[in-house]
Amino acid sequence: VSVELSVVVPVYNEQESVPELYRRLNAVLTGAVASHEIVFVDDGSRDRSWELIRELAARDGSVRGVRFSRNFGHQMAFAAGLRHTVGDAVVIMDADLQDPPELIPQLLARWRDGFDVVYAVRAKREGETIFKRFSAAAFYRLLRAITQVDIPVDTGDFRLMSRKAVDAFNALEERHRFTRGLVTWLGFRQVGLPYLRAARHAGESKYPLRKMWRLATDGITSFSSLPLHVAGWLGAAVSTLGFVGFVAALLARVAGRGIPLTALLVLALVFLGGVQLVCLGFLGAYLGRVHEEAKRRPLYLVRESIGLGEAQRAATTRA
Ligand code: UDP
Ligand code: MG
Repeated sequence: VSVELSVVVPVYNEQESVPELYRRLNAVLTGAVASHEIVFVDDGSRDRSWELIRELAARDGSVRGVRFSRNFGHQMAFAAGLRHTVGDAVVIMDADLQDPPELIPQLLARWRDGFDVVYAVRAKREGETIFKRFSAAAFYRLLRAITQVDIPVDTGDFRLMSRKAVDAFNALEERHRFTRGLVTWLGFRQVGLPYLRAARHAGESKYPLRKMWRLATDGITSFSSLPLHVAGWLGAAVSTLGFVGFVAALLARVAGRGIPLTALLVLALVFLGGVQLVCLGFLGAYLGRVHEEAKRRPLYLVRESIGLGEAQRAATTRA
């Protein structure tokens, strides 16, 4: 059977939200697409979330559930959910109704226009603490400033992906998964769609500071090796300064100016400190490359090709 749209929802202790999310999704999807499936991924919930998902699946043949053995995290839940979908298009969204199901028809419209990725941009956020809003805004901008991949700002994971994009995403093997960055990395045709981010339907955020920190560091380390190079640049500056200072002081002392020996000593130490930092920079350069290799991302992704024979076509998928 063909499914036009799959919806992937990570669920972690969301018993108050699951029924309401299902109700609103159902209302939106019937009419918007010919056929759909909803894939709930229970990320080790300790409340009644899984029972609710089972009840929904028993009543509705388009509901599927995947239950983790423990809490693996939001991003892993997306990874699992995406691998369990069969739809021509896939929407990924949170369970707490901060991502409004009512936006899905607009996401679909852009997909029908030919886009492979339609990401929802938070034009406004409601019902979140000042700390959350500030830290998120600062993080997105820092990330943008130091990464090579142009990850859009103020954009969470709520988005639609075409089958082509989902298959490419599923082929990524890396373990630290910053979904929104990886999807941006995929390329193809991507477009943003602004929306109003609602307040949580019920319950509390399942993203304590510890998880936010891990997400932020995953995002930065997966897409930037800039922090590894900082030591090198710092070292180059410091050692140059130390070297120039030392030579100048030495010449001045030889010429009979009153330069104490300790000054020479300090400048020599500054120079040596700089040399050590430069060496750390070398280590960083190699480590960064090892890190790149360890991610085992495909070398490239092909959008389309033309005039290739059977044997040549393999190269477009082998990457
Ligand atoms: N979530 C998850 N595993 C976790 C934490 C969160 O699957 O370890 C789910 C959660 O149920 C929700 C989504 O991820 O569907 C986003 O979490 P939340 O709304 O708490 O994050 P916030 O909006 O506060 O950043
Ligand atoms: Mg939320």
